[in-house]
Amino acid sequence: MTESNIFTQYMQKRNVIVKDKKILQSSYIPENLPHRMDKINEVVEIIAPSLNKDKPSNILIIGKTGTGKTAVMNFIGKELKKADPEQENCAFIYVNCEVVDTPYGILYNMSNQIIVEPNMKVPFTGWSLDKIFSELTKYIDGQNKIYVIVLDEIDRSFQKNGDDIFYFLTTINEVLENSKVSIIGITNNAKFTEFLSPKIKSRLGEEKIIFPPYNVTQLQDILYERARFAFDEGILEPDVIPYCAALSAQEMGDARRALDLLRISADIAERNGDKKVTAAHVRFAKNKIELDAVSEIIKTLTIQSKTVLFSVILNNEEGNDPMTTGDVFTKYKYVCEIIGQSVLTQRRVAGLISELDMLGIVHARVKSFGRAGRTREIELSTPKEIVGMIKGDAAFIDFFTYKPPTQTTICRGSNGRIRDFPIFHLRFPLFLSFMPYSNRFSLFIISIDEGHKSVLCFFYVFPSSLKKACPP
Ligand code: ADP
Ligand code: MG
Repeated sequence: MTESNIFTQYMQKRNVIVKDKKILQSSYIPENLPHRMDKINEVVEIIAPSLNKDKPSNILIIGKTGTGKTAVMNFIGKELKKADPEQENCAFIYVNCEVVDTPYGILYNMSNQIIVEPNMKVPFTGWSLDKIFSELTKYIDGQNKIYVIVLDEIDRSFQKNGDDIFYFLTTINEVLENSKVSIIGITNNAKFTEFLSPKIKSRLGEEKIIFPPYNVTQLQDILYERARFAFDEGILEPDVIPYCAALSAQEMGDARRALDLLRISADIAERNGDKKVTAAHVRFAKNKIELDAVSEIIKTLTIQSKTVLFSVILNNEEGNDPMTTGDVFTKYKYVCEIIGQSVLTQRRVAGLISELDMLGIVHARVKSFGRAGRTREIELSTPKEIVGMIKGDAAFIDFFTYKPPTQTTICRGSNGRIRDFPIFHLRFPLFLSFMPYSNRFSLFIISIDEGHKSVLCFFYVFPSSLKKACPP
């Protein structure tokens, strides 16, 4: 018997309701892809000639996130390997340009899938891109076969690196004599091809396949298919899958989002010790996903944006919500002074408020007062967990530990004499100061405490000088 350890208690009380967790992961490639057989067939028809060593056309696959593009291509890759297990006629290479996003990284990853001999592999660093290009071209041509190279999230690489790699890959066939390369580019961004040079654009997009978003029933079928393997019967309440599907269909028919909802709902139920997954767990999961998304955004905000958001939060906590841009700006300046940060103009701050509005963190709307003009009404629309996160940000530590200097305005009583005459008791040398403060003057009288001796100091204030300082 194994000794008990700190995990024992957890393992014993573990409440397992998901039979196989990896089936609900978005990286899992299911055996069956409901509602994508038509797209699978379209791609297969184009690339099938590769099995006879004929070069297929290049393909550009376009579709929003979660529409099954990656799943379909991985599925096809597996099938292609089954059709040609020794890769005699064709090899399938898959590179995700989001994961490896430098030109070197992409070529290194691609080359090392293509080059199987360990002593010929491209080193992790050190070669020039030209050297990789030429070695790779030589190697590919020596193999006498068709390479189907899938570049997933191709727009990511383009945004960062321009189109050098696409140029190389789409023109490589001009120098190859024995082998051929066929490119399948996948993108979430339909506009991305507009930025490619005309030559690359026409080559890459020889064939275009659009993946439309899933509708509610399609999402339900996808979830039922996955749930069949992931859960025992009766674990999911009947309304769970329709609910997950409905929520995700509202958000652009994203199957990844639907699967995330189902997986997180089941996790919540498991951790809660519940025996079944219910619609209530789905609601919790939805909130958790949204919260995670907002906190990811918050982490990427600049310090100036955070300070603006912090100022909105302070106004809100003082009961001043909705507030105007001016209110936010006044607080913002105050916070900047305390935390020692440069102050932007009101115009820039208004711009940052608009950005926060676009991110859904504050809510700003223009309110018209007819001839009197227009103003913006700003409301905090951030969950309390996020408010806590901002207030706990290291940038604002000084704000919470800051003690404003105590000062009291001397006023004249009704009898013309001075009232409100505080005496501060400090361990500091004697000092007397008249501080201008909103057109009044404050007078500090300080008692000196040196050792055990306290000395109390009195000062006469001449009525004439006070008259000047504090007009009635
Ligand atoms: P995309 O690449 O278009 O962003 P993915 O292919 O990564 O989307 O799909 C997201 C998730 O949804 C993956 O877990 C995938 O397995 C699943 N999925 C997408 N379409 C289907 C489908 N038709 N059948 C089963 N699962 C699917
Ligand atoms: Mg993908």
